[in-house]
Amino acid sequence: MLRHAAHHMNLLVVGSTAFDTIETPHAEAKRCLGGSSTYFALAARMFASVRLVSVVGQDFPTEHRSLLESRGIDLAGLESKPGKTFTWHGRYSADMNSRTTIDVQLNTFGDFQPKVPSKFRDSRFVFLANGAPATQMSVLSQVASPEFVVADTMDLWIERERDGLCALLKRINGLIVNDQEVKQLTGESNLIKAGKAVLAMGPSLVIVKKGEHGCFVFSPYFHYALPAYPTEKVLDPTGAGDSFAGGFMGYLASCDTISIWNMKRAVAYGTVAASLTVEAVGVDSIANADRATVERRYQDLLQFVTF
Ligand code: AMP
Repeated sequence: MLRHAAHHMNLLVVGSTAFDTIETPHAEAKRCLGGSSTYFALAARMFASVRLVSVVGQDFPTEHRSLLESRGIDLAGLESKPGKTFTWHGRYSADMNSRTTIDVQLNTFGDFQPKVPSKFRDSRFVFLANGAPATQMSVLSQVASPEFVVADTMDLWIERERDGLCALLKRINGLIVNDQEVKQLTGESNLIKAGKAVLAMGPSLVIVKKGEHGCFVFSPYFHYALPAYPTEKVLDPTGAGDSFAGGFMGYLASCDTISIWNMKRAVAYGTVAASLTVEAVGVDSIANADRATVERRYQDLLQFVTF
């Protein structure tokens, strides 16, 4: 994990592209651009050149494609298939700490078999957004010599595809999960024990997200915690996790080495990216953010945690 990396900036993300319908206590939106790969890419593009692999249907408008392209995201791996784009409809609780999926239409995402274009196969940084472990594994077999691979997962796969997930954990460098998921995965109710238990399953980095309470980071070399960026304006938490991953991976991909300190800084950039995403409904805020805004918030966050 601590070995030197050449100055590689290419970052591959594989995940969903969606139409999201979102209901929060403060806002509502119908069929807006969403999906894990979208949020990740819009955050990561502020740091590195992002390559996206995903699938949409014929109802996916050119405006959405143009938005992503205008942010420098390489869409050579965004496949368009006959049928409709994945749709997700979620509703948040009054305090926005939990959400219920009202409806999911997998559509073209249902049998998503990611095809990594040949020009993406030299990617050194890879983010496997939430998906079936077998699908995530198939991406790895299509990348020549990945240097730093991070995956996301969810309760569904921990429950139903544990063996596949365990096999994946042996092949990746980092896992990003939320506190409920890490407890479910390891059977440990103490978060510190749970984090260490995941390290024993393979990855050398485990990031546990705790929503508005920030995150814990576990590695064999260090433990680290960071609160969320102190924003008063939380309109829509959708995509916060994927934006966090995008800021984290994007920043690391822009570094010369994957050192402990660069990883700690990367966690702070992930935290900043997530804070931008939650301040608007859908992708608006993260899509319109720039590196200067990110750097200002990074300094604010540093002030917030330094004593
Ligand atoms: P996050 O809030 O970071 O977990 O990401 C939310 C995004 O994930 C939304 O834009 C959804 O479109 C997308 N999403 C929701 N459910 C799924 C699923 N089962 N598989 C893939 N993506 C999903």
